Amino acid sequence: MALLEVENLKVYYFTRAGAVKAVDDISFSVDKDETLGLIGESGCGKTTAVFAIMRFAAPPGRIVGGKIIFEDRDILTMSEEEVRLLRGKGIAMVFQAAQNALNPVMTVGQQITEVIHQHEQVTKEEAWERARKQLELVGISGDRAKSYPHEFSGGMKQRVGIAIATACNPRLLILDEPVTGLDVIVQRQLLNLINDLRARLGLPIILITHDLSVIAETCSKVAVMYAGKIVEEADAVSLYEDPAHPYSKLLIKSYPSIKGEKGKLVSIPGAPPGLLNPPVGCYFEPRCPSAMDICREAEPPLVKKDGRLVACHLYK
Ligand code: SF4
Repeated sequence: MALLEVENLKVYYFTRAGAVKAVDDISFSVDKDETLGLIGESGCGKTTAVFAIMRFAAPPGRIVGGKIIFEDRDILTMSEEEVRLLRGKGIAMVFQAAQNALNPVMTVGQQITEVIHQHEQVTKEEAWERARKQLELVGISGDRAKSYPHEFSGGMKQRVGIAIATACNPRLLILDEPVTGLDVIVQRQLLNLINDLRARLGLPIILITHDLSVIAETCSKVAVMYAGKIVEEADAVSLYEDPAHPYSKLLIKSYPSIKGEKGKLVSIPGAPPGLLNPPVGCYFEPRCPSAMDICREAEPPLVKKDGRLVACHLYK
């Protein structure tokens, strides 16, 4: 049994105009030794999906279907108290732009000890010592525990966010766009840190990004999302070397490569469909260079193809 199993998850936003199907019937799993990358354009439902895992969905958003099984228990049937205990101790999340989520009037050490005290009965001194160790774990001197967030650079604040998230030894870590907005050198340092943490702590990770290079650096498995659905799931190497879904192919072609001959970058024409009244058939059809008649008539199911899952009528 996988550590986390998401089954047929549906999260809709209810507006006056109707239900926006932000996440529509997606399934994926994360094993104990896995780093899963969730990738896709902005608005494809990646963050909504992981917010559902943390049970953060709030009105007008609502989880309308599915199961989220973590260590044999369905998170969606847990009580509020059980969910509170799960957050931080079972599953921890570093939010997008975590560097801006730190409390400006608390030292970073206080912010780490606050999380520890929420979950564990330890003395102030023990919690402080652990806060220092957490900072050292992410490459920051323990002496900086007394510093305030404004005394750190953007990359260091992101490290502090990871130190806070891992303070109570969670069994699964979710990172939402961990390197977005940082310069490439700091990005490289953070990706090295994420790989190092995964190796040292044996920590399974779900990593959300729109940046393919981040996935290539860190993930063992990738799920490509488009308009609230998973359109391809494969191991990271297979997806890069031989993407199957036309959207995955274009996504990969639209990123520059520093290897091989220089070529023109491909852009994906058009925009994803509105999810209030999504079209019949394949949601990618208006943008797809391989579209056929059937694509306008029937939604392609997710089928197995050469050890991966792909939702496209090109594969029967
Ligand atoms: Fe393109 Fe049709 Fe496949 Fe959709 S189902 S991705 S339109 S070929």
